[in-house]
Amino acid sequence: MIQSAAAPRLDLQSLMESVVRITEQRSRENLEHCLVTTLLELTTLTRVSILRPLMRSDGLQAECVASADTGGVTAEGGCLPLEDDPLLARAWAMGEEARSVDSTGLVRVCLPIAAMGEDVSAFLTIETRADPAPYLDMIRGFAAIYRNFLAILREAERDTLTGLKNRKTFDEKIGRIIANSHTLAQMVPQERRHHEEGEQHWLGMLDIDHFKRVNDTYGHVFGDEVLLLFSAMMRKVFRSDDLLFRFGGEEFVVVLAPTTSAHAHQVFERFRAVVEEFTFPQVGKVTVSIGFVAIKPGDISSAVIGQADDALYWAKRHGRNRVCHYDQLLKDGHISPAQEEGAIELF
Ligand code: GH3
Ligand code: MG
Ligand code: MG
Repeated sequence: MIQSAAAPRLDLQSLMESVVRITEQRSRENLEHCLVTTLLELTTLTRVSILRPLMRSDGLQAECVASADTGGVTAEGGCLPLEDDPLLARAWAMGEEARSVDSTGLVRVCLPIAAMGEDVSAFLTIETRADPAPYLDMIRGFAAIYRNFLAILREAERDTLTGLKNRKTFDEKIGRIIANSHTLAQMVPQERRHHEEGEQHWLGMLDIDHFKRVNDTYGHVFGDEVLLLFSAMMRKVFRSDDLLFRFGGEEFVVVLAPTTSAHAHQVFERFRAVVEEFTFPQVGKVTVSIGFVAIKPGDISSAVIGQADDALYWAKRHGRNRVCHYDQLLKDGHISPAQEEGAIELF
């Protein structure tokens, strides 16, 4: 039974202040946290949440990234199969607002967040025991601000030529990736059920061989075309849960989702071979050298990059067009840890 709606306690000034506060945020996480707490403050809703669709090997999941209720901010990070929540599943399938009322009178409204012509990138859900109608227009307005803001954040984290994540995003993310690798190492067996023994994140540094020659011989426009096709190949060969970055001019970084050493080598080797086999329009053959290393719990990012770079440097000095594993080079006595010291040398 839906109770009659409480009169909204909204005035223009607090509304404007809320918009200002939300648009002050500079990361997706902060924006989402600010949005749910603000909507709860402005209304008599009992809960406001943001969930993100997540494609995993075991199917489409909804991950709760921010949630606030009248009892305070609740735990985030939970994941559930999308099909287990019929409201979310309906909003996802139709791409439009969906509503449900359960037998206890709890009303839930789900607003899918999607830029024009694009997939749903988040769900904003509200819960209330009253009629949500007095707030719905305002909530739709905030959902639209959130959608536009996500588009701006997304653009700022991408490289304009290739569309891959840029160096700034790498610098922001690498700390969290290392922190997560820590979590994986400490997981109890039950939590590790999706992971095989010995799986860890891997960082690969990729550098196109003799790229200067491409520019010098064919000009910058063809050089740019090679970078574009190269990044398209990266998207094709690596999996959707691997992170792809353009690190600098013709240097790229790949962070592989947890996998074994043998598989990491195989994946980088496959990419090297795909590049070698491809014939670039006008330019012809181009090759890539790759150095990679495991991301270990407690690592500092500059050391990980330095190690991958050492392995890359070795590949460059030993014929290029090859994949080198930092720990293997150490084991075989080809390089020594002392080489890590000093300034990081990037190609
Ligand atoms: P190595 O095999 O040792 O890596 O040789 P390299 O020629 O690839 O390396 P080097 O670092 O000397 O040259 C990189 C070149 O990449 C120089 C620079 O002009 C070019 N470059 C950097 N950014 C861009 C870009 O955005 N577009 C184009 N076309 N070229 C770029
Ligand atoms: Mg190069
Ligand atoms: Mg280089």
